[in-house]
Amino acid sequence: MDTLVDTPPAIPALADATELSCDVLVIGGGTAGTMAALTAAGRGAQVLLLEKAHVRHSGALAMGMDGVNNAIIPGRAEPDDYVAEITRANDGVVDQSTVRQTATRGFAMVQRLESYGVKFEKDEHGEYAVRQVHRSGSYVLPMPEGKDVKKVLYRQLRRREMRERIRIENRVMPVRVLTHPGDGRAVGAAGFNTRTGEFVTVRAGAVILATGACGRLGLPASGYLYGTYENPTNAGDGYAMAYHAGAALTGIECFQINPLIKDYNGPACAYVANPFGGYQVNRHGERFVESDYWSGQMMAEFAGELASDRGPVYLKLSHLPDETIASVESILHTTERPTRGTFHEGRGHDYRTHDIEMHISEIGLCGGHSASGVRVDAHARTTVPRLYAAGDLACVPHNYMIGAFVYGDLAGEDAARHRVYEGELPRDQLAAAHDLVYRPLRNPDGPPQPQVEYKLRRFVNDYVAPPKTGAKLSLAVEAFTRMSEEIAGMGARTPHELMRCAEVTFIRDCAEMAARASLARTESRWGLYHERLDHPGRDDADWLHHLDLRKSPSGAMEFTARPVEPYVVPVPEFAPAPGPERRLGEVALVPVATAGPRDAAPAARPAAPSAAPSVAAPATVEALAVSAPSPALLRLLSLTEESPGLDVLRPYLDAADPAVRAAAVASLAETVPAGAGPALAERLRDTAPQVRTAAAAALRELVEVLPAETLLGAGLREALGVDDPAVRAAALDVLRALRLGDAGVYAAALADTDIDVRITAVRALVSVDAAAELAAAAADPAREVRVAVARGLAAVHAPAPAPLDPLLHDADPLVRAAALAALAATGCPPLYAEQAAGALEDPAWQVRAGAATALRAAPPARAVPALSGALADPHADVRKAAVLSLLPHAAEPGARAALTAAVSDPDADVRAYASRAAW
Ligand SMILES: Cc1cc2nc3c(=O)[nH]c(=O)nc-3n(C[C@H](O)[C@H](O)[C@H](O)COP(=O)(O)OP(=O)(O)OC[C@H]3O[C@@H](n4cnc5c(N)ncnc54)[C@H](O)[C@@H]3O)c2cc1C
Repeated sequence: MDTLVDTPPAIPALADATELSCDVLVIGGGTAGTMAALTAAGRGAQVLLLEKAHVRHSGALAMGMDGVNNAIIPGRAEPDDYVAEITRANDGVVDQSTVRQTATRGFAMVQRLESYGVKFEKDEHGEYAVRQVHRSGSYVLPMPEGKDVKKVLYRQLRRREMRERIRIENRVMPVRVLTHPGDGRAVGAAGFNTRTGEFVTVRAGAVILATGACGRLGLPASGYLYGTYENPTNAGDGYAMAYHAGAALTGIECFQINPLIKDYNGPACAYVANPFGGYQVNRHGERFVESDYWSGQMMAEFAGELASDRGPVYLKLSHLPDETIASVESILHTTERPTRGTFHEGRGHDYRTHDIEMHISEIGLCGGHSASGVRVDAHARTTVPRLYAAGDLACVPHNYMIGAFVYGDLAGEDAARHRVYEGELPRDQLAAAHDLVYRPLRNPDGPPQPQVEYKLRRFVNDYVAPPKTGAKLSLAVEAFTRMSEEIAGMGARTPHELMRCAEVTFIRDCAEMAARASLARTESRWGLYHERLDHPGRDDADWLHHLDLRKSPSGAMEFTARPVEPYVVPVPEFAPAPGPERRLGEVALVPVATAGPRDAAPAARPAAPSAAPSVAAPATVEALAVSAPSPALLRLLSLTEESPGLDVLRPYLDAADPAVRAAAVASLAETVPAGAGPALAERLRDTAPQVRTAAAAALRELVEVLPAETLLGAGLREALGVDDPAVRAAALDVLRALRLGDAGVYAAALADTDIDVRITAVRALVSVDAAAELAAAAADPAREVRVAVARGLAAVHAPAPAPLDPLLHDADPLVRAAALAALAATGCPPLYAEQAAGALEDPAWQVRAGAATALRAAPPARAVPALSGALADPHADVRKAAVLSLLPHAAEPGARAALTAAVSDPDADVRAYASRAAW
């Protein structure tokens, strides 16, 4: 290895820069960036997309997308309710016009993504299966193949029409946006190639920053630099670039902090676990979260519980049946992160036997989760003309993935109006960017990046992470100012190390912004995100304001308190007052030394070494030696980039080597030529398991884009006879989704030997409303199938209670529980209401919870007294079901009295739902 790094490469001369030009420059090829590029190109612009990693895999989207966190699906949620929800979650400091864009355009974006091939969960009838995660609003739309989203987007970028308009340069990392010296508009960027070390300059008509969150700000509890909650390549590059280009940033003091699995940098996944019945508990097994929506308030409750003698906090799944846990695992250990299963296994933990210890993440900046971002308007425009920001970098609170797509789209649309900048690029700015990139090569033996970055981020943990105080934040500013010098002296020997060193400068900039902004807002707001011990309590009179930050012409960090724009959707709890902006100027530090107040002037920088940069060929990094893959595979890989037709791929699909056939299947899935569906169905009958598995996965993945051709239907039916249950389940599922099967085919599959196949058959029967065939499966030997049948009988159009009869008397409590819960959908006439009331005495809590759910649809005279009694049940989930079932009966005096009493229940969920009756 050391042969690669012995001699540092020479510094390329400014004049030898690779010069690129375009109408629209997109920086960052993640979620927002790819969408911005597609939209801008679709509107006729020549686009250059620069990504410091590789677009095919890069960014937050590459792993862990379990679903759309904020889908506003017509009929299931209202845009205005969502806007009000986010306004509350963000303690009133919201430009509602920006949130409203996501609320109103999100659904069209879901449909656009679907037309590209992204799969969203749908019920048996093809309706979006939106789930409720928070106590109000149903906004979560699961994505069963969420791991493939980036692949789907890359396929769009590689389409012929797009290839002509979008040039992608991977491994190129801009470090500064260039602005016009006269009018300050964005005219391009400067950066370098992280593999060859070349200096790269770009002339552009408009620049879109889509570089994601600043994930590498605080240091994770694990101590690993890159073990962050956020994608670790997102080091705050865009925050620093926007700041130095003169754009306003806003809400920087409203940090991102998330619940995490302890010692593992994966999210705690309330969004996944909650709809399945999982939840967070303290060590006494009590639910404690009072907040209705994911917010800083929720994090404050979480941190408070952790720090109390009721801590630690756990993700509880152990009370759920085996098959439910298996479903959760199939998401968390595949779509989410494959390492997650291995991590738990390594500890000897299993969701069935162990509740999983949770912790809180390091702090970060993120405009799309909390509110710390670049200020944008409702068209993704920043305060610098022709500079846009989209995705997690832009301050549009709780925007998440779908908001990143929406804002990428908005930015691409607006930016596409501009044509390439023809003037000279500003030489002084180019020289400064050049110096920023290459100075570590002048000092190769200087402190290495990991050491400096560790130290910097440890100060972030020590002084900036909440709870905050003026004294700690002032110490932070001092530390970050002092570290400018140390950072300027870092050493590097390879282009890759240059990238890491540049990132440290971005992290430092973000750390200083975070500390100063936190000092400037002299109140507490957003729960844990901005908890000031020396300014406790929210101060709406002075601070129901945005706090904007920008670089002054003299280079100082200056602040303005900006009134919140008049709401488009009124939210009674907040009344933003109109008025002028308050210019706060530079923030004053709190004196922290025993010798009294001090001068916080930055230390003088050491003079730059005088040696002129030498002109040399850029460094190249040789490929590492790997065992040679087969020539056919290599040919196939390069062919795939050209989007080949089926005839070109045919020889590979029929190759003797199964590895080549599996790769050809992957290529078909990536390029989807005409005839891909039947060709994939054919491979379901392949002799090699790896090819069959790949074909089954590809068919499921492409279900939204494959035409429902007869030939495909025939191939899938043939595959039902294959001696591989995974193939049979996939074939059934695709037949159902494409509406290529019928009740006869599905009912026949109920005799399959494999449980998963039979469950898939149940789903398929629901899709064609075959209630009689479903009812016949009520005697299935497997409990999981009978549970699926009970749920299925509730999901057919015009469901009726009678077919549930055998299941209501099933020997297995989980089946009885599911059948009782199904009565809430079928209707619960008096005879069934009696049964349900009796089942409230069942020894199994799941049955009692199912009975309480059933009574929601029962006549009030029977339901209300029974449900009121169930509020004394020892199990919190039974009481929760009882409260939820009492809500529709709230007009009855008995129900109101019971709900009023439940407001002081020991369980947080029961209390929260009971208090709804008062709304
Ligand atoms: C662990 C995790 C799980 C999540 N789960 C969900 C979920 O289930 N549902 C949901 O709705 N949302 C989820 N989100 C949020 C969602 O993923 C993000 O909001 C969204 O993907 C952000 O998109 P983005 O384009 O801003 O950033 P990214 O997609 O991260 O893209 C930023 C890109 O910029 C590149 N880049 C950075 N700096 C530079 C530079 N200087 N030059 C060139 N390139 C650069 C990066 O390499 C990266 O490719 C999750 C986020 C995380 C971190």
